[in-house]
This record gives sequence, structure tokens and C-alpha cells, in this order.
Amino acid sequence: MNRDGHIRVLPLHVANKIAAGEVVERPASVVKELVENSIDAGAANIKISVSGGGRKLVSVSDDGSGMTRDDALLSLERQATSKILDVGDIENIDTLGFRGEALPSIASVSRFTLTTRRRDSDEGTEVAVNAGILAGVRSAGCPPGTHVEVRDLFCNVPARKKFLRAYSTEESHIKHVFTQTALSHPSIGFSLWSDGRETYRLAPADSSGERMRGLFGESCLDGAARLSGECGEVEIDGWIQLPGASTAGWRDQYVFVNGRPASSPSIAHALRETYPRKPGDARPAVVMFIRLPPGKVDVNVHPAKREVRFRDNAAVKEAIALAVHAALSGAAPVRNHPASSGASFPPAADEAADAVFQGAAGSRLPSFATTQLAVPPARLQMLPSQTTIEFAVDPSSTASKPWKWFKFLSTTDSGYILIETDSGMVTIHPQAARERLAYEAVLARDGGSVESQELLLPETVRLSPADASCVAEALPELRKAGFAIDEFGRDVFKIDAVPSIAQAASAAQILSTVARDLAEPGRRRAGSRWKEEAVARSVARSCAGMALAADEAGATKLVEELASCRMPYVCPSGRPTMIFTSNAELARKFSRG
Ligand code: ADP
Ligand code: MG
Repeated sequence: MNRDGHIRVLPLHVANKIAAGEVVERPASVVKELVENSIDAGAANIKISVSGGGRKLVSVSDDGSGMTRDDALLSLERQATSKILDVGDIENIDTLGFRGEALPSIASVSRFTLTTRRRDSDEGTEVAVNAGILAGVRSAGCPPGTHVEVRDLFCNVPARKKFLRAYSTEESHIKHVFTQTALSHPSIGFSLWSDGRETYRLAPADSSGERMRGLFGESCLDGAARLSGECGEVEIDGWIQLPGASTAGWRDQYVFVNGRPASSPSIAHALRETYPRKPGDARPAVVMFIRLPPGKVDVNVHPAKREVRFRDNAAVKEAIALAVHAALSGAAPVRNHPASSGASFPPAADEAADAVFQGAAGSRLPSFATTQLAVPPARLQMLPSQTTIEFAVDPSSTASKPWKWFKFLSTTDSGYILIETDSGMVTIHPQAARERLAYEAVLARDGGSVESQELLLPETVRLSPADASCVAEALPELRKAGFAIDEFGRDVFKIDAVPSIAQAASAAQILSTVARDLAEPGRRRAGSRWKEEAVARSVARSCAGMALAADEAGATKLVEELASCRMPYVCPSGRPTMIFTSNAELARKFSRG
């Protein structure tokens, strides 16, 4: 992007390639175009004022780059833009505006004033345009940045003016644009004034979560889970409402593609298919940021409605499915290639899953909408394409129980637990099940902290400086999880007790797993509990090596406890705890179905 103030007139062939669209539909579109220009100009703070639902006045002030007098005049010519030079640039746009038609279009249907000053000039420029006719250019004393005032929108287009709705309707459109823009640019400070009253003041924020609290209220994230995941070149980030939970002050779905508000049938489809909804449920509240290389998305499909077209719809859908499933299962952000587990016996859950899935090849794969998550799609992707995984869902309970009844059958020589349920046979991976139990026990709020086991001799652990600083930051969470731990000098920690469920692993091992988990590149440090979750995951992983449920009583207890978990189907790192083989599938396989 070019912030040096040199505006280029688009060559005609570029202009022709860009679909011409109606830029100004209503006052909210003026707000959107002006604010986007301010963002493109590198503003740190943007103030928006409207009156009469934006019909009387829309004004936007920023502290961005500002313009020279020449550029200010040029910016009002059609197809004058400083943002693209050539056709090729259209494929890789990283600024919000690029058509060079907003300012001239707005100025042609309003009483328009642009006041602007570059930081390095002593004086600014004011340009006034009256319904498309240049009314005056003069020097002006003004702060660095740009201030645009748009009065009497559609003053010369009575037909359009008549089409505008009641103040309150126009105001709600403006509020929607404001919300979208503020959400996608948390680091910029925004304020919105309406009829002389300040309705929002949003300080620059560090994260989308903080920005959401500013917009929707402090408790808006209480019933939400962090969305995070990546699949190939597609990255997903954001927040989603948990099923049945309330997200005070935040009800809508906000989706952004590379920072722009966007919609696309494939995004809507992926959300519908992956989110468990009962008939009559409202759509979940979502704030979702999708990032992918600019060349992989066509943003120019619909200039006003923001519909985008992806070159690879399947990758986008899969990334959304991964992120939604991981968020709802409370698992770690799922990546396309999950790191393999170090456990040696029984086979790591993913190997086990593959083994069972291979046996099931030959039948169909039901859609996510009719099944509950038992296998995260990260695994599904690697399965033989024709595989059946069916899950029992009790449509009257919100938290889906895996079965109505079960009967213990056996523990196999290879270490799996086999049970029969009302809907079929289930193979359970005891290690994965234990990890899920340990994870939920550590995170349980009402049960207080988990039991700790004092060590006979306190253990001192020396960590690398990087690991030590991660662990030092997570001391409160470690203590809550059952560790008695203190800093004992530079990079050294003294441990007097460990959570009883994790006794088998050495404290040093757990601490370095915690440090690695906390420092993992790409891990999003958001959500009030992300450190607790990282500690819980590490503790859960260190349950490896505990005696497995060899006898019927132990296995039955494990199965019962697993079934009452909040998310029984996956271990904390998102791999399956159980594999279903439904009665219907068995009948089909025996050619009796
Ligand atoms: P586009 O944003 O598509 O380039 P616009 O008509 O919205 O077209 O703006 C034309 C040009 O005017 C921009 O390319 C930019 O160089 C300049 N401009 C507009 N608004 C601002 C602003 N707030 N601060 C600095 N420059 C601006
Ligand atoms: Mg623009």
C-alpha cells in the first residue's frame, strides 16, 4: 500500500476490470467508505459523528497520513486511487478501498467538505464540493489527518432520498457498519457520536476479545469459546457461542475474510453443518476471522454486499469445521497435521482410530449436522473416504450423552475396552479416556482444585531460561491444578506436591510440557482460561503410564466417568476417545441391512 501521498489515476483497463458498483446506497455506506479510507491511511484513532441517522450529517475524522493539496483534489476525481497501480495488484489487495470511486461518488450526491493535512506540512487544505461541483479550495488550519463531512446525502437525488428509511433504521445500519469495522480493527481506537451524544468509545485494544467486551459488554464472552485453527493456508480465529449458553449483548454473526466483513455461501454452509443445533435454535453468535493468501480469494464479486468467492471452498469449509469442533470440545486448537503423541501403549489414539476406521471402510460418511462430534475432522480427513462413524445423540438433552445404556464386554489384549450400547458397539481407548477425565478434573471450577499428592522429597527442577519464564507466568494456574511450586532462584523451581492424577510423571517432565504448550507458536493467548487449559492439557498428558483398566470394575468405572464428561468424545488434544460401530452399520456389512 502506498501512504506516500501519490495518487495515481487508474489506467482505463484496470478500471474496466473492476466491477462498477453502487458505492453509496445509504448513510451507512458513507460511514463505511470514509472509515475504510481512514484505516487505509494508517489512522490510530477514528471519530465518527452522525446526525439524523446520517441523513443530515456523516463526519469522520482521523489522525492518519493526511493528503497534500494536489492529492486532496485528485482524490475527488473518478478512479483516482493511491492503492493500486496495475491489474495484477487487484489480485493481491491489502487495503480496504481500491476502486478510487468512493469520494467522488459521495461528493456528487451531497454537500461535501474534505479537510486534510499531512504531518509534514504547515497548513492543511479544505476542499468543498456541492453535489459534484467544486465549490472552493482553501488553506486551512487543522490538525494532521483528515476530516470529511458529508451533509444532506442525496440532496440532488430526490428518488434516492425518498428511499431512505426511518432515522432509527439508518442508525442501526450505521451501528452495524461501526461494529464490523471496530471488530476487525481492534488496535484502532474508535468513537461514535450520534446526534451529539457519544454512543461508543473504544480504546485501542490488544485482542479481538477485548474489543468485543468494549462493544458488547464485559460478560459477552462468558458463554463463548475461542475459535482457533488452521488448515493448509487457511487460518481461523475468533469466538463462538457455546450451545445453550448465553452471550449477553452479542447475538449476531460477524465474519471477516482478510480483515473485511464478508459473506459467502461456503462459510454459512460450514457453520450450519458443523454447529450442533436442535430445530428451532437460533444461529450461534460468532465472530470469525478467516485469513488466507489474498490471491486465494476474490473480494471483487460484489462491491456493496461483500460477498467473496474462494478459489478453494473445501479448504475454507474444513478449516471452519476444525476450528468449531475444537472450540466446542474444549480441545487445543486443531491443526491439519496434529503432532504425534509420545505414548507407546496402547497405540496412540490416532493410530488406534485409523486401525478401526480401516475396518469400517465401505460405508458412507454421515454429515456433521446429523451426528455429534466423536472424531475431529482432522482425523476424518485422513480416513478412507468411505467410512461410517455414527454417534448416538439424545435429542432431548443439551449435553449429548454418548449412549442411553451400556454393557461392558471385554478389555482386549491390545488394551481397548469394548462395550455394547443401545445403538451399537463402542471401542474405547483407555488412555485417551483418562486424559479427557484428567483434563476436565483440572479445569473443574466448582470442585475446587484437584487433589495433590505431597512428594516425599521436594523436587528441584532447573529449566531453560525460556521455559522458566513461561512456567513463572503460570504459577497461579499450576497451583490451582494441584502443584505446590515455588521459584527457588534463577530458572529453578521447588516442587513439594503434584496433582495426584499426574503422580506417575516426573515434575520436571510436566513443567517442560507446560512451558512448551504455553510457548507454542501460533497459540492464541486469549480467553480468560487459556493458561489453565494449557496446564490441564499438560497434566492430562502426563497421566500416561498409569495402570490401565484391566478388570471389569475398573473399566466400567472409566466408561461411566467418560460418559459423564462435558465432552466425552475427544481427548484434550482433539483425538478420539471412542469409536462407534452402529448396529445399522453391522447389519449393512453383513448384507442384512
Ligand atoms: P479508494 O479508497 O478506493 O482508493 P476513495 O475514493 O475512497 O478510493 O479515495 C481516493 C483516495 O483518496 C485514496 O486512494 C487515498 O489516497 C485518498 N484518501 C481518501 N481518504 C483519505 C484519508 N482519510 N486519509 C488519507 N488519504 C485519503
Ligand atoms: Mg476508499
